[in-house]
Amino acid sequence: MFSTSIARQLSLAVLGLGSLAATVAAGPPDKPAPTPPQKGVGINIANIDPSVKPCEDFFHYASGNWLKNNPIPAAESRWGSFNELADHNNATLRAILNDAARNAAKAPKGSNMQKVGDFYASAMDSAAIETVGLKYLQPHLSRIAAIKDLSEMQRFLADPKAQAGSVWFGMYVGQDEKISSQYAVQMGQGGLSLPDRDYYLKDDARSKAIRTAYDTYLVNTFKMLGDAESVARTNAAIVQRIETRLAKASKARVDLRDPYANYNKMTLAEANAAYPNLALPLMLKESGLGAAKEVIVGQPDFLKEVSAMLKDEPVADQKQYLRFHLVSSVTAALPKAYGDEAFRFSQTLSGAKKQQPRWKRTLGATDRALGEAFGQLYVDKAFSPAAKTRAKQMIENLRVAYGERIQATDWMSAATKKEALKKLNAFVVKIGYPDKWKNYSTLNISRESYLNNLLAARVWANKEEINHFGKPIDRNEWGMTPPTVNAYYNPPMNEIVFPAGILQPPFYDPKADDAVNYGGIGAVIGHEMTHGFDDQGRQYDSQGNLKDWWTKEDADKFNAKAALVGKQYDAFMPLDSVHVNGKLTMGENLADLGGLTIAYQAFEKTPQAKAQAKIDGFTPEQRFFLAYAQIWRTNARPEYLRQQVQTDPHSPAQFRTNGPLMNMPEFYKAFGCQDGNTMMRAAADRSKIW
Ligand SMILES: [Zn+2]
Repeated sequence: MFSTSIARQLSLAVLGLGSLAATVAAGPPDKPAPTPPQKGVGINIANIDPSVKPCEDFFHYASGNWLKNNPIPAAESRWGSFNELADHNNATLRAILNDAARNAAKAPKGSNMQKVGDFYASAMDSAAIETVGLKYLQPHLSRIAAIKDLSEMQRFLADPKAQAGSVWFGMYVGQDEKISSQYAVQMGQGGLSLPDRDYYLKDDARSKAIRTAYDTYLVNTFKMLGDAESVARTNAAIVQRIETRLAKASKARVDLRDPYANYNKMTLAEANAAYPNLALPLMLKESGLGAAKEVIVGQPDFLKEVSAMLKDEPVADQKQYLRFHLVSSVTAALPKAYGDEAFRFSQTLSGAKKQQPRWKRTLGATDRALGEAFGQLYVDKAFSPAAKTRAKQMIENLRVAYGERIQATDWMSAATKKEALKKLNAFVVKIGYPDKWKNYSTLNISRESYLNNLLAARVWANKEEINHFGKPIDRNEWGMTPPTVNAYYNPPMNEIVFPAGILQPPFYDPKADDAVNYGGIGAVIGHEMTHGFDDQGRQYDSQGNLKDWWTKEDADKFNAKAALVGKQYDAFMPLDSVHVNGKLTMGENLADLGGLTIAYQAFEKTPQAKAQAKIDGFTPEQRFFLAYAQIWRTNARPEYLRQQVQTDPHSPAQFRTNGPLMNMPEFYKAFGCQDGNTMMRAAADRSKIW
């Protein structure tokens, strides 16, 4: 039953996972390595559209030609520099996988090479998957079919080896946000198939069309499982009804951003009394968590509704809900028709015209199932210790710049500044890959069945997480795998993390000038640091505890500044009459603005900024902003943009580019913007926090 709740996914994506009581002293910053400016490296001048004025629309100026010349591939819903770099990483990863698949039989049984190779080979063998049909799924379907009453349903849900995908709610072991030195059992809302509660509840034409497409997916899946047409229709309606009930009881995404409202610690006795039908004592005992005396409940009203549903929804109906979730969670391991049906439905949401090739989907699945076994093979090939050293140097330069900006703020009291600096200096930095890799020795992977491999990996990951309980916090853990083109801040760990995958061009290029690297990876580093001081992150202290360290006046001033940023982004429209949600994207927008400001401050200390020599006709400052804009070059399908503004805490790329720049006098100066230019806000409308 242990499955990640939506609330946890959000906290992972927006801010990251854990915490740290660490005091990594910043120490004296390493001297920035002077990079001799080289013409034409780092920024592709050909991407610029000279017909657009930089002070009118910098996003389309910096990348307009690239946007015109790089249409979205049919199998994608958006395309930008992140995708190009991921594609580059994928080529390396695919070669590793093919190699591992060829050599798995010769590799020692239980080695990473054997597991990665057999996992990939079992998934790529579409003929074998077609031939076995539902053979390996059948025992799991039969188990669901055999449930007769509430007590059997409770036993099924309590069994950590039972399989039904992600159902009813999320439960996991994670850091206690108010005692960040301890793990706690946590529960929260979940159990939906559509991307958000609103998809079930809104009555606009698009929401209705998505529900209709979902109904088709449900009906066709039940028919493939052997239900007669009329039975399949009835079962589809049951799943929609159950999920709609869960959706109504779910909190909106914006309301999940308040960490205090989503932290409700209860004794096991209290939780059991509040949610009697979940059989929590049994669930904890069966998972090996019998010692837990407390649980932290994210959304109490939601759990109350689930408890009621387990009693008042007919068991026969609940079984259809479980049956569909099991099947839809493993379509990649079933005959092709199942995956085709899932893809047809997903197209309604993403707008993609074609399914991704099998190798690419399988590569992603291998990364999710065996991320650190696969990741080790990747870093051996693709990551150099020199890249780690240089990244560390830039991070320390940005830490110094951030400290200066905190000291220089005119709105923060000395007391709050002191705590902010303490937190900044306590940031733990992780670069490249984990110092200690996860140990997969208890996970059995073979060529016999991809479905069995997928399910075994799921059970293993749950067990791995549960095993944390009662132990000291594992400070070595990573929330992303090494090839990932991304980065995160994790509030309860107070750590910033940069996987090997992102430490490459266009984000970081050892051959490029400092302007390119500070505008690229520098802005990314600043972004993650600023998450420690955004609307959510600022509520955690230097030890990662959810604890108020702000004076009332300073908190009020911060909130007023954040509200101005919210207003700015509310006005942005990626599509006609589709607005960005300033509250949902608040943390990311603050991180973008703060991150770019800090990166600029650090860049201004480099020899290149001091020398003021032009490269390709651009000043160092102009190159800094061009590099920033070019990492955000992105084309996106309208379907993707609609889903993004509804569910993603990140604003669409053009506003991640223009939004921060419209607040920065440094940008106006670099490009000579004047009053009346679109990019130039009136002084009173600008936001400056750091
Ligand atoms: Zn972020």
